[in-house]
Amino acid sequence: MSLKEKPSIYLATRPSVDWKSIAEFFEEENVPPIPDSVRAGDDESAAVIEIAARMCYMSYGRGRRDITDFINNLLSSKDGSVFEHVNYGFIITGVSRSLTHELVRHRAGFAYSQRSQRYVDETEGSFVVPPALAANREGIEAARNVLNNALLRAADSYVELVEALEETLPRDLFELNTDRRKAIRQAARSVLPNATETKIFVTANVRALRHFIEMRGAIFADWEIRYLAIEMLRILQNEAPLLFGDFTIETLPDNTQIASPIHSKV
Ligand SMILES: Cc1cc2nc3c(=O)[nH]c(=O)nc-3n(C[C@H](O)[C@H](O)[C@H](O)COP(=O)(O)OP(=O)(O)OC[C@H]3O[C@@H](n4cnc5c(N)ncnc54)[C@H](O)[C@@H]3O)c2cc1C
Repeated sequence: MSLKEKPSIYLATRPSVDWKSIAEFFEEENVPPIPDSVRAGDDESAAVIEIAARMCYMSYGRGRRDITDFINNLLSSKDGSVFEHVNYGFIITGVSRSLTHELVRHRAGFAYSQRSQRYVDETEGSFVVPPALAANREGIEAARNVLNNALLRAADSYVELVEALEETLPRDLFELNTDRRKAIRQAARSVLPNATETKIFVTANVRALRHFIEMRGAIFADWEIRYLAIEMLRILQNEAPLLFGDFTIETLPDNTQIASPIHSKV
């Protein structure tokens, strides 16, 4: 039985600007050449937002000159829709099915592709240990034994169910063998617990990500998803400091962390 205690998070996609196209647009519209503010910084996330936001008033090269000031003004005035133009894609593994059940409740601005338990056999699958039962916590041996035994029993039951259905499910019910295998696994997965490890590709825009991190990085969120939200925040603060820089991360006496923004739900 393979156990995982921490997720792996891979930033798979980030925004990019086609500066040649933008320059052509400015020239066509008789707008001054690309202002310094739009080109500011190493990442292109804030540039996308400035280009989109200035479309509303065709105010390129006018108004606020400093990009930090410009973005902060959008955040504080809750002009949230322009933050929807910037998307990031994450591949996330080593998380439990209970975590992804909470994650996929975030609907607006999110796209998901998750490993299927009907197509993919779980015989060699892993389980995710809840943070409260992590190996480095003291005094959890007895509870950890309860968890380990339950997971072992579940894994064994899954294999037994697959074998039993392989023997008994009539072949002539299915046109394709793939459909039969799917039918077997979809039944056998009923004995897998919430702790079953899963993998998911998540793409979301900055407005949606900010809301997700605010909700799931808060003290009342489950520890596993809270850890994920805060790790995603760290990646995003590095990628797009102007768009996520108002979040602060705080360590609690129980050694878990929480994150909260200055600008709530833009
Ligand atoms: C600590 C915690 C505990 C929770 N406990 C439970 C629980 O016990 N049971 C349970 O069922 N859920 C629970 N949830 C899930 C919660 O109710 C939300 O489904 C989840 O957090 C997604 O939030 P959201 O709808 O704001 O996000 P999104 O779906 O991403 O929506 C973002 C925002 O868009 C707007 N929006 C989206 N869809 C609509 C719509 N159809 N109509 C109008 N406005 C819309 C809203 O302003 C919404 O806040 C819990 C969440 C947290 C953080």
